[in-house]
Amino acid sequence: MIKQNLEKIHQTIKAFTPRHIEVIAVSKKQSLAKIAAAFSDGQTQFGENYLQEALPKIKTFPDDFVWHFIGPVQSNKTREIAENFQWVQTVDRIKIAQRLNDQRPEQLPPLNVLIQININDEESKSGLKPEEAAALAQEISKLPHLRLRGLMTIPMATQDEIIQRESFNAMHTLFQTLQQAYDIDTLSMGMTSDYLIAIEEGATMVRIGTAIFGERE
Ligand SMILES: *Cc1c(COP(=O)(O)O)cnc(C)c1O
Repeated sequence: MIKQNLEKIHQTIKAFTPRHIEVIAVSKKQSLAKIAAAFSDGQTQFGENYLQEALPKIKTFPDDFVWHFIGPVQSNKTREIAENFQWVQTVDRIKIAQRLNDQRPEQLPPLNVLIQININDEESKSGLKPEEAAALAQEISKLPHLRLRGLMTIPMATQDEIIQRESFNAMHTLFQTLQQAYDIDTLSMGMTSDYLIAIEEGATMVRIGTAIFGERE
């Protein structure tokens, strides 16, 4: 089933755009067996929201898995995140960036980071306002053990396609503005319910859970 789901997603994307879109399989609350199945079907990049849930999974699987941290980052968790993940998509303050930089093991390549933007300015969500992104990008670009790759967002939950498009489009505009000053290549937005709209509006990376693995446990 996972194999068919992955094939369907890749075919849908391919029919939709010639651009390369990176698909992150969001494996929070999914079993080791399902993750192993996705990997054997060619999926190498996985996203996890909760450190304590992610660590045993990361330790179970070989080094050719690529793990993205996509949950809120608490300061007391940065060391283990810096030691175990290749990407952190949810950086939204300098203190967290600094800690991830200082705690990234010397022998590992720089940690790839995305700045999380709270594009609809929702109180319940982490992330920066768009106008705050450039200042954080500037600080991150000075940190030798981090590599700024771009932006990430989780827009407001809505079925209204016009609002979805507006949010994604605002992200794309911000991304292009930052690209003039920084060598960034990743705009992470779009999940099971809205990934095609996100791609149409400029996403380069989508984070898909349910459409790959089925409902979470
Ligand atoms: C859970 C989650 C996803 C995947 O959600 P689906 O709707 O299952 O595709 C993507 N991004 C983040 C940040 C998530 O927490």
